Amino acid sequence: MKKHNFYAGPSILSQYAIDKTVEGIRDFAGTGLSVLEISHRSKEFQAVMDEAQALFKELLDIPEGYEVVFLGGGASTQFCMVPYNLLKTKAAYVDSGTWANKAIKEAKLFGEVEVVASSKEDNYVYYPKNFTVPADADYLHITTNNTIYGTELREDLDVNVPLVADMSSDIFSRPVDVSKYALIYGGAQKNLAPAGVTFIIIKKDILGKVDRAIPTMLNYQTHIDKGSMFNTPPVLPIFTALQTLRWLKEEIGGVKEMQRINEEKGACLYDAIDNSRMFVGTTHVDSRSLMNVCFVMKPEYKELEKDFLEFATSKGIVGIKGHRSVGGFRASLYNALPLESVKVLVDAMKEFENNH
Ligand SMILES: *Cc1c(COP(=O)(O)O)cnc(C)c1O
Repeated sequence: MKKHNFYAGPSILSQYAIDKTVEGIRDFAGTGLSVLEISHRSKEFQAVMDEAQALFKELLDIPEGYEVVFLGGGASTQFCMVPYNLLKTKAAYVDSGTWANKAIKEAKLFGEVEVVASSKEDNYVYYPKNFTVPADADYLHITTNNTIYGTELREDLDVNVPLVADMSSDIFSRPVDVSKYALIYGGAQKNLAPAGVTFIIIKKDILGKVDRAIPTMLNYQTHIDKGSMFNTPPVLPIFTALQTLRWLKEEIGGVKEMQRINEEKGACLYDAIDNSRMFVGTTHVDSRSLMNVCFVMKPEYKELEKDFLEFATSKGIVGIKGHRSVGGFRASLYNALPLESVKVLVDAMKEFENNH
């Protein structure tokens, strides 16, 4: 049976990226070797790195003065690298969910942290907006998509201090005005590649302003200077990331078109939730994420949640069990998930509702 993959991360990749990765594992760039067993300093792998960085810049229209870096360690290591490299005395953070909270915890190791807005008291059901950022903050940190709670900030903020964003779960889902950011980072395993690589888009002139000594591996400058090859980079995830970027450019037609498709998918599922007698969304409407759609059953049907999960599984629907901090269901509609899969889910919801 065809599977419809709604996992929140690691998550669905395009068939194109999977097929090209399999090809590269068997025979990489005509070398007669696998991409798994070749030097990262070979000219063939250097070409992969160069093209991946170039496509990042092209697809997101990244201006001059920025560098794209690929590292290990996951987005969670960025929670510490960001303040290590950028926090002099004080940083501002928006507490919009679990991941933002973890970033705040790390930043406190390096200096004063001012949480300028938080929706924690309301179990993060909305994206906190309308806050002011102290002018003396070294940067403002935001998490654009809250993977666990299903809220998203789908716009680029204008702020008076350097803006840093965790875009782990919505990178390439919409055009981004990179010029408004000092740094954007994310783990690759939601919208780009298998787990193991982290991308960082960094404005070079924000570095070199802190006085503390920074360990070599945690210093962004090290990796900029060495083109992400200071040490062995996560070769295979970078190779797959390149295939995803090619897919995005050639098969989808760019990030603007990706956004249109994502809006169509989101509308399809949210309409079904809004028109349902049984299901209800968990977030405020104006904060709804197009990447992670969280919903539960209304109190009078609550005991049917387990049955619906089983019913969905019987239709090939995988990965919609909600995160334990929200419960119910979470359908992740990442870039590679086709509209067809969303329709299968919506049909399953309607059929289940008719049966009960
Ligand atoms: C998944 C996720 C993370 C954690 O990423 P790791 O690569 O596992 O460290 C951080 N932030 C957001 C928004 C995420 O979705």
